[in-house]
Amino acid sequence: MDDSRVLLARLFLSVLLASAALATPGLCGNAVTAVQPRQGGQRQSLDLTKTLAEYLKIQREHPKKIKEKLGLDCNTLETQNFIIHGSIDQQLMKETSVLCEGLHSEFKRIFKYKKKEKLYAGKLELFLWQDRGEFIKFAAGFDGYDATHAGGYFTSRGPLAHVNMYWDTRFTDKLAGKARFFEVTIHELTHAHLRFYRSHNRIRVWVHEGFANLMAWYVIRRYGDRKIRDRVKTKDYFANYLRRQAEQGKLRSMKDLMRQRTMPGNDIEGYALAWIVAANLVNMDNGMRFLKFVKAMKDEPAETARPTSQELLEKSFSYQDWKFKECFGVTPQQFERWLLNWIVKNKSTFHKAFPFQ
Ligand SMILES: [Zn+2]
Repeated sequence: MDDSRVLLARLFLSVLLASAALATPGLCGNAVTAVQPRQGGQRQSLDLTKTLAEYLKIQREHPKKIKEKLGLDCNTLETQNFIIHGSIDQQLMKETSVLCEGLHSEFKRIFKYKKKEKLYAGKLELFLWQDRGEFIKFAAGFDGYDATHAGGYFTSRGPLAHVNMYWDTRFTDKLAGKARFFEVTIHELTHAHLRFYRSHNRIRVWVHEGFANLMAWYVIRRYGDRKIRDRVKTKDYFANYLRRQAEQGKLRSMKDLMRQRTMPGNDIEGYALAWIVAANLVNMDNGMRFLKFVKAMKDEPAETARPTSQELLEKSFSYQDWKFKECFGVTPQQFERWLLNWIVKNKSTFHKAFPFQ
């Protein structure tokens, strides 16, 4: 049904690392082939052509295939919902798996999945490499993707998905490097989860990026090792950036954010704003309103979800505005006035307003 792949470069973190110029492969959702949504209906069930056991078998045989085809050696760690392959050490695999399961249960909680309900076929796979060369080789040989400029990505094929990531050796501070490794991994996994929620329809880039950043930060704070928790820098970095922009009256409008079709890696303001907007929206009614909004976005009529003309594009934007008001009880512009005021006024207590503290 859906052969398209979503390749999400983990770019914003590379920006934080002040790395060299980065290219932008397909960004959130834009490469997704929409399937016909069921208006007001139930979540679409996974389109499975094999049994779950068959999908699992394919995933478990990946290390053998990767060795044969690419000459790469993999260790594997399997947990309830994830299969982690790759060359990173066993301890790091284990720590990563705890965060993965944490994300999975938080996602299910926010999006009201039943305990045993499946989000994807088999398990979600992660390929985690000790060496950037292995990461690039795997991307080329397994995904047919040139990852020379990517910091990590996820891709899906039908009901299966995987994340490809590597250990960044540029960090001299080991704990900071580890925190960043977890942040990118959970960020990508959140994209993968959103991808499968309800239907394969795309959702807006600001929702994708904002929610992925929010979950990365939240999951590490909640499920991470004590030493790592305090090293997650994203929140403070973004908060300070936003405050400076707001004080100088330079912050982009909600309207512009909501109309963005891509979010390039150097768009720090875009990532920061998307993140704080998502954080505040998720905070309303314990995620219920955000859930309703994402549902509406996933059920967007196919013709406006994939606009081919300016007219349809405008229709699509107004659909989003309409659903925003319906779900959050305020227009994007009203929300923006409140948010700006809050950012500027709450300097000293900025952190307190974030959800799940
Ligand atoms: Zn992203």
